[in-house]
Amino acid sequence: MKDCLFCKIASGEIPSQKVYEDKDIFAFNDIKPQAPTHVLIVPKKHIDKLSSLKGTDAELVGKMLLAANKIAKDNGLNGSGYRIVGNCGQDAGQLVFHIHLHLIGGRKFGWPPG
Ligand code: AMP
Ligand code: ZN
Repeated sequence: MKDCLFCKIASGEIPSQKVYEDKDIFAFNDIKPQAPTHVLIVPKKHIDKLSSLKGTDAELVGKMLLAANKIAKDNGLNGSGYRIVGNCGQDAGQLVFHIHLHLIGGRKFGWPPG
């Protein structure tokens, strides 16, 4: 989609530190990491927010989660654990309106989130 930051990153138009790519998914390091590992997993297809997902996106969402698990494993996080976060809308603090999962790990996180 024109004028979407994550569409431009996924297509390579805007540079990023890529950590994973397949035909449907692109993943890259967050520019403002909140943990030693902080990777954003985005679909190449533009979808504005998680609440816009349709039944036909089920496989894509599954692939996003599996990509997050693979990246966590590749970063040695399987033993210590990690968190996968998806912010949807204003109250969750969604800043970029192209769906993404945050994979964060390498330190302890509190619960519930603030
Ligand atoms: P969210 O609040 O869930 O929409 O998160 C958006 C995330 O995108 C934030 O963690 C930002 O630090 C990150 N971000 C914004 N611009 C870039 C960029 N150019 N490259 C990498 N990460 C970015
Ligand atoms: Zn987009």
